Amino acid sequence: MAQDFINVHTHKPGAGINIVDPCLGEVMLPENGKAYFSMGIHPLYIDATAEEKLKEIGLAAATGKIVAVGECGLDRNSPVSMEVQQDLFGRQAELAARYDLPLIIHGVRAIPELIAVYKKCPSHCKWIMHGFNNRREILQDLLQHGFYISAGRHVMEIGSNVYRLLPEIPDNQILIETDNSDFTIEEIYQSVARRKEITVEKLQQIVRTNFDKLFVI
Ligand SMILES: [Zn+2]
Repeated sequence: MAQDFINVHTHKPGAGINIVDPCLGEVMLPENGKAYFSMGIHPLYIDATAEEKLKEIGLAAATGKIVAVGECGLDRNSPVSMEVQQDLFGRQAELAARYDLPLIIHGVRAIPELIAVYKKCPSHCKWIMHGFNNRREILQDLLQHGFYISAGRHVMEIGSNVYRLLPEIPDNQILIETDNSDFTIEEIYQSVARRKEITVEKLQQIVRTNFDKLFVI
């Protein structure tokens, strides 16, 4: 039987199994794929409604309307202070832990701060670093702390950090996503499989195993 393409973070769902984040606005649901939702407060879009949104996320988690929390995280380019970001991120991490949901993380130039929140969090076995495209030392740091690494559109550039580092991401910590890109999930899998020198089918099995450990669908 053909396997599904699992897409752990997307704003534009397509074929396969999609974890859809509606934070960028209206989402067109796919005709040829399944969609499940995540909800979070993106660090670039923190505004006066943050407390209200946090309550909504809590309610959605409690009533089983979402299968993950996020994307949320820390971004050095956000107009909001790192202190406020860390507080909001920490509270979303707590929510995810309370309901045993995976946490989809956005991190830009704030990895030490992310790891600081991680160390304060009581339970963090389901942290997913989405759209990873960083240096080797940061990858090693994240892997050692047990983060899952989600590879996305940057794997389509042969010269990117993530493309070079793909062979160093172990099978039990890798996930795949399209995020906000126009690449299909199939194209991302093909590029990752080529770089890891495995078949697309094998990669699908690897991602499925990780997905089943993290998500309750
Ligand atoms: Zn995103």
